[in-house]
Amino acid sequence: MSKNLRDLALNASKNAHSPYSKVNVGSALQTEDGTIYYGCNIENSSFGGTVCAERVAIWKAVSEGHKKIKKIYVYTHAGWPPCGMCLQVMTEFATPDLEITLGDKSGKEMTKTLKEFLPEAFTPAHMK
Ligand code: ZN
Repeated sequence: MSKNLRDLALNASKNAHSPYSKVNVGSALQTEDGTIYYGCNIENSSFGGTVCAERVAIWKAVSEGHKKIKKIYVYTHAGWPPCGMCLQVMTEFATPDLEITLGDKSGKEMTKTLKEFLPEAFTPAHMK
């Protein structure tokens, strides 16, 4: 499974629009029912318009009616972690035990949970 998500994330990274950072990021996720979505980072000359690969994949899933993420893979050349904003968006569509796997170009991988990355997350439960 991880291999498949890795391949999709790596492949998605090749579509990145990253003329400013020059860093291609790809992400692939599996929803609760097994459906897979992927995305790449899409930068903008007005930097606030830039969207990370993780959120592109999440928004593709949500826009198709899939609001529960089971696992997510993030590919960068150096195995970078998701940014704070992406982790916050993940809290909206996943439980704290969401598996987040980071992969780099050498094939090295590391998996941690969403709770490990963002232990005191602001979640939808706070809004109730
Ligand atoms: Zn991000």
